[in-house]
Amino acid sequence: AKPTVIIIGRPNVGKSTLFNRLVGKKLALVDDQPGVTRDRRVGDAELAGLKFDIVDTAGWEDEDAESLPGRMRAQTEVSLEGADAVLFVIDARAGITPLDEEIGRWLRTVDVPIVLVANKAEGKAGDAGLYESFSLGLGDPVPLSAEHGEGVADLFEGLWPHI
Ligand code: GDP
Ligand code: MG
Repeated sequence: AKPTVIIIGRPNVGKSTLFNRLVGKKLALVDDQPGVTRDRRVGDAELAGLKFDIVDTAGWEDEDAESLPGRMRAQTEVSLEGADAVLFVIDARAGITPLDEEIGRWLRTVDVPIVLVANKAEGKAGDAGLYESFSLGLGDPVPLSAEHGEGVADLFEGLWPHI
């Protein structure tokens, strides 16, 4: 069967923009307002000849900190079921937030390969966030700009061993 890759991250980091970039079409709604992606969207992605299903999620929208552990357990069962790899997206311009750390802690406990993606890394404004993201303990981040299409092909190296 075709492998499945799931995009995970807090609101507004650029998950849907990356999804659209990998699908090559605008299937997911991108907006400055968090919470636009209401459900999971699946698309056909291709990266340097590597074909996979890509899933856009919005599991952490609208959630307050108190309900987070429960939401994460639910996400483990729903989002990651059948996943061959996870793209964990952070916003290099915003840096690492407590919610990023929370999601990162959860992802370190799951049995799915994680590729850390430092999005919005175009220009110099993302440098500090990129270096900060090493502290998540999820390996070397892949810096890219989903919006400008820079560095997206570099995801190949992180994904191909797993899918
Ligand atoms: P999501 O909530 O994680 O799905 O994030 P979206 O894909 O909806 O994007 C949130 C905002 O970030 C939008 O205003 C996008 O245009 C912007 N954005 C996405 N990717 C990039 C990027 O590579 N660089 C910059 N500067 N902005 C981006
Ligand atoms: Mg979205």
